[in-house]
Amino acid sequence: MSHPVPLLNNEQLLQVLSSSNNAVAVHVAEDAIIQYASDRMIAIWGKDRSVIGKSLEQALPELKGQPFIDLFKKVWNEGVTISGTDTPAQLEVDGELHTYYFDFEYRAMKNDAGKTYCILHTATDVTERFLNMEKVQSLTEELRASNEELRAANEELNASNEELYESQQSLRDLYEDLAESDLRFRNMVKQAPVGICIIRARDLLIQDVNDSYLEIVGRRREELENHTIWDAIPEAAEAYAPVMNEVIRSGLTFRAREHEVVLTRNGVPETLYIDFVYEPVHNDGHVTAIMVLAIDVTDKVIARRSIEDVEERIRLAVEAAETGTFDLDLAKRIMLTSDRFNVIFGFDRQVPWEMFASVIHPDDKATRIAAHEAAIRSGKLFYEARVLHSDGSTHWVRVQGKVYYKDGKAVRILGTLLDITEFKRLQQQKDDFISIASHELKTPITSLKASLQLLERVKNDPASELIPKLIDQSSRSMHKISALVEDLLNVSRASKTELKLNKTPFTIAEMLDSCCSHVRIAGKHRLIVQGDMQLQVTADEHSIDQVVVNLVNNAVKYAPESKDIFMMVSREGEMAKIAVRDTGPGIAPEKITHLFDRYYRAESSGFQNSGLGLGLYICSEIIKRHGGDIGVESELGKGSTFWFTLPLD
Ligand code: ADP
Repeated sequence: MSHPVPLLNNEQLLQVLSSSNNAVAVHVAEDAIIQYASDRMIAIWGKDRSVIGKSLEQALPELKGQPFIDLFKKVWNEGVTISGTDTPAQLEVDGELHTYYFDFEYRAMKNDAGKTYCILHTATDVTERFLNMEKVQSLTEELRASNEELRAANEELNASNEELYESQQSLRDLYEDLAESDLRFRNMVKQAPVGICIIRARDLLIQDVNDSYLEIVGRRREELENHTIWDAIPEAAEAYAPVMNEVIRSGLTFRAREHEVVLTRNGVPETLYIDFVYEPVHNDGHVTAIMVLAIDVTDKVIARRSIEDVEERIRLAVEAAETGTFDLDLAKRIMLTSDRFNVIFGFDRQVPWEMFASVIHPDDKATRIAAHEAAIRSGKLFYEARVLHSDGSTHWVRVQGKVYYKDGKAVRILGTLLDITEFKRLQQQKDDFISIASHELKTPITSLKASLQLLERVKNDPASELIPKLIDQSSRSMHKISALVEDLLNVSRASKTELKLNKTPFTIAEMLDSCCSHVRIAGKHRLIVQGDMQLQVTADEHSIDQVVVNLVNNAVKYAPESKDIFMMVSREGEMAKIAVRDTGPGIAPEKITHLFDRYYRAESSGFQNSGLGLGLYICSEIIKRHGGDIGVESELGKGSTFWFTLPLD
């Protein structure tokens, strides 16, 4: 059985509705007078029940300027429903203006006539939801941004990864290259023709060494590898350890050329000449190793030194022989000459080739040209010519050279030059002598021949007066011939060093007294011995006698008018001096220097009895062998004093 349910009156109904959790209000009229508002709505508004009966604007004056009052008007007037979600509204709660968010609906409630009689206003405060949503949104935004960033980072990471991969790849390639170049380097070091030794700077430990280096230092590999350099080669430490230390300190390369090093090679000390370099190997600004590069140049140095030696000897020989040298470039027509060459040609410096050629005696120019032409064909240059010095003197030169060819063409002549003036003079003298000797011999021989022919005619008439005269004539001719022959023999003996000395002590004055009896007997001259009559020497008396006879004979020959011939003995320090003085014509000063030369005759004519120019030469040879000196003082018109000295005991 059911009981009828008692219905709520309006007031009760409103009371129930007002305690609903949903905010509800009922507005009437255009300005939205609040006829009903649930507790929740009043709470949202932040007001109290006094708002009932007030227009919305009166109840919530803060809504002025916000769209809501106008919206109410629109709903009332147009009978529409307006709703919104998350709509912000500024409400004054507890005296402070805050922004709240609402989902709302303004619904026009219409009667049957379609006329709006009230507006049902429902609202839900979604501030929290909204703010949370906003937070979520901003978080989402942040997340998105982060995601974006993450993506970008990811992309970067990918790119980096790719780069990393690429760098890894190139690193690997590099490593491979490095390994290859390291291998190549090691092979290079191993096969290098120069000695290479790599030494760690820190402790001077040998890290690598090639066979060439081992050969230079004369060690086995195990003697060097894993040893410090100066333990391995201690004999070089004193000289080179400071150098290596300096290279490590300064980082500067040290180069040495042809250093003389004594190394104990295979146990034997040997002197070597080495070109070497201490090359610092840098790493991060530090010297981490020293690369020693060494070349054994001993053979080269020795060869060069021996060439230098030979050159020096040739130079000395050339100098000693007073030989000038020349190097003629035929293509460029340039001639390089030595100092001696220039001097022989009368210049104090090198002059152009043409200038040398210009001082050749005009009569010899053709000889020179012909010799040069012949040289190109034969390969050998030879000629003798006179050159004229600026002081007017004439000098004989002998040019000898060797021609050098390139591609069949003569390009160069290397040669020597000798001053043969003296040689030519001697040659001339010799020629003169031969003609004189033959002439001199011819005279007494002709005379002897004539005498003998006459004797032949009168031989059957012993009473002929001619016979003694002819015999006398023949005898004098013979005497002359034998004197000349004697001179010649003496010269040849002297030049063959056959002049043996038989030394005995004798008193000089006594020897002088007894010599030259032929002159004394002839009676034309007085021989006067003066000076130290006691002085004794030890010498070959026969030779000395010969010298004195020669000097006296000359005085007789060349100073026939000199009645007195003085022979003087004196002591001069450790020497005895013997002089033969005449008061004859004397000798011109320019001739004096040559008087003692072989074949020299100061007067080639004018004296009937002049000899072969050998007497004084023989005298000087005898005196020289005795260790003495010979000379002459003479003045034209006053006479000559020939003297010689002999060492005293
Ligand atoms: P020679 O055999 O021709 O005499 P010498 O050597 O003895 O040769 O002498 C060389 C030259 O020295 C002679 O030809 C002569 O002209 C010169 N001479 C030597 N003695 C004298 C002298 N007493 N007075 C002048 N002239 C001299």
